[in-house]
Amino acid sequence: MINLVLFGKPGAGKGTQAAFLKEKYNLLHISTGDLFRFNIQHGTDLGKLAQSFIDQGDLVPDSVTINMLEAEVDKHPEAKGFIFDGFPRTTDQAKALDEFLGKKQMPITATIALEADDDRLVERLLQRGQTSGRTDDQDEEKIRNRFQEYNLKTAPLRSYYEAQNKFHSIDGIGTIEEITDRLTAVIDHFL
Ligand code: AMP
Repeated sequence: MINLVLFGKPGAGKGTQAAFLKEKYNLLHISTGDLFRFNIQHGTDLGKLAQSFIDQGDLVPDSVTINMLEAEVDKHPEAKGFIFDGFPRTTDQAKALDEFLGKKQMPITATIALEADDDRLVERLLQRGQTSGRTDDQDEEKIRNRFQEYNLKTAPLRSYYEAQNKFHSIDGIGTIEEITDRLTAVIDHFL
């Protein structure tokens, strides 16, 4: 079983790459951002709770996010492995994930960060916002706040996973195919 975590600031291409990787390695893709947006669209209590945080570009509180993620994993006992996209984003989330997966004897295989510079990402996100309808992609201030959240809360996970020898990073600038190739070069090492 392979369990992967994809890191990267908003716009780094996590979702795009996860769509390729899930096919190639027969993995189940879980994006916490997608789960929140699904709940918002369907007007659930979880969606109502998450909306104001997402609108401001802030992280949704850990307790809510961790419970949602664990429930989603539990819905798929048949899965051959998972790609976690956008989770964990805080040290408490990472610890909770380790504990949760540890109990199931399905530890994280590797975490991979897609690196790209902020100005390039802002450009990409503003462009995506024109077609995706995502309000958090349409306002540069909110985008910069999401980067700030990443720097403050998610970047420390690098040393968390380095300590477990599970952290890898690749250049996230290039064509979609080039980046997929860089990712598979890392992942194939674990097959
Ligand atoms: P994303 O689609 O991954 O860019 O996520 C969109 C938004 O959903 C983020 O800006 C956060 O507000 C929220 N979100 C997604 N994943 C998490 C997470 N693991 N922890 C807290 N908030 C999250």
